[in-house]
Amino acid sequence: MALITKAIKGTKDVLPAEVHKNQYIESTCLGVAEKYGYKEIRTPVFEHTELFQRGVGDTTDVVQKEMYTFDDKGGRSITLRPEGTAGAARSFLENGLSNEALPQKVCYLTSCYRYEKPQAGRLREFHQFGIECFGATSPLADAEMISLAKQVFDELGVKDLHLELNSIGCPKCRADYQNALRKYFGAHKDELCTTCRERLERNPMRLLDCKSPEDQALAKDAPVVLDYLCEECSEHFESVKKYLDSMGIEYRINPRIVRGLDYYTKTVFEFVADSIGAQGTVCGGGRYDGLIEEFGGQKTPSLGFGMGLERLQLVMEAQGCEFPEPAKPDLFIVALGEKAQLKAVEIAKDMRAEGFTVLYDLNARSIRAQMKYADKMNAQFNVVIGDNEVDEKKATLKNMQSGDSTEVSLTTFVNDFYRISMDEQLKDLEINGEAFDFGSLFGTDISEEN
Ligand code: ATP
Ligand code: MG
Repeated sequence: MALITKAIKGTKDVLPAEVHKNQYIESTCLGVAEKYGYKEIRTPVFEHTELFQRGVGDTTDVVQKEMYTFDDKGGRSITLRPEGTAGAARSFLENGLSNEALPQKVCYLTSCYRYEKPQAGRLREFHQFGIECFGATSPLADAEMISLAKQVFDELGVKDLHLELNSIGCPKCRADYQNALRKYFGAHKDELCTTCRERLERNPMRLLDCKSPEDQALAKDAPVVLDYLCEECSEHFESVKKYLDSMGIEYRINPRIVRGLDYYTKTVFEFVADSIGAQGTVCGGGRYDGLIEEFGGQKTPSLGFGMGLERLQLVMEAQGCEFPEPAKPDLFIVALGEKAQLKAVEIAKDMRAEGFTVLYDLNARSIRAQMKYADKMNAQFNVVIGDNEVDEKKATLKNMQSGDSTEVSLTTFVNDFYRISMDEQLKDLEINGEAFDFGSLFGTDISEEN
């Protein structure tokens, strides 16, 4: 039985009392993306395993160690998506978006699955906000993508994140660099972890991204990719920096950033927080000019990023960022007896149709118990309806914050409620620190014009 009430290791529930925080972060992400012309794309949670082997790269940690892969009942190898880019790129090709006007800008909020050691900021099911811009060559696109991520952080009020920037060049300039790395790490082969010993020949850049402390120590003195960039990559990088400068976005050049996925070319970047310890990378991304071709499409230079939503929330909490309060219900109806209950149901239906949030007790309990429950529900207004109220078609609406009571008609309840709750809101409305004079709205100039 114990298993039934135990969630899988590395997964996390979001409870109703907390979910407004997730909703706030998610709607901010989508809102910012929209301002840059991104539209949501929704792809399946699982894909053919080959997609990730090819797309993410079979020498990466993600593919070698972290994927949730299984055979389905038809004997196909299926993998739960460890990231969002491969699925979006597959969909871009399969659905012919590649024939539409380019660039195609898509974004997503998705769950991702990686078999990792769970710890603060590292889960087995986590969530990402991601964007992909398919078919954009200019460094303008790289800078715009970074500015989009930055705007998400700004709108959420996240501070003390810094942007780390690098270019890892193209396959052309990388050949020399890979050789330099092979030579450097080859001289220390015995000190490398077993995985890295194996990938030294095929993909030595992966060694720079290895999490083992010995390999990280060695990586510190490894040759730096920026010294190997070809002219085109070097010019591209200079332009990205120029555009970031003109947008006032600060960055640090960090030649150690190579990113954990194989498909990156040229620009790579991370936004890193100091406030949440070792798992500080909140957002990572870059350009992947070769991926679409790798999947069998036309050459389509592209770019994107993934932002870890759990880490983002951890940073916001560590920094004391404000979250908006969850919305309160507008009305709780305490109903006593069959007649009153029927009336309550009718009023609630009308009120909800007008967009109000209305609750009543679903256990037909005593008045005391209903009051207690109403208190917990924290509605803005309460109304008690009993036989008397139904007979007289009147009841008392109580503002739970101010304690003010107002008589309302049960026949015109929705209208009365509108009027009273509006009055309350207007009372609260201040302009420049002073109560707003509504008389001034109906000043002579306006009325005389007609
Ligand atoms: P890390 O170096 O921390 O393992 P990564 O390079 O594997 O990160 P990406 O593949 O670039 O991460 O994913 C983008 C973002 O998703 C990360 O910057 C991070 O915020 C988040 N992320 C990645 N893995 C996890 C995880 N296991 N749990 C929670 N968030 C994660
Ligand atoms: Mg990782």
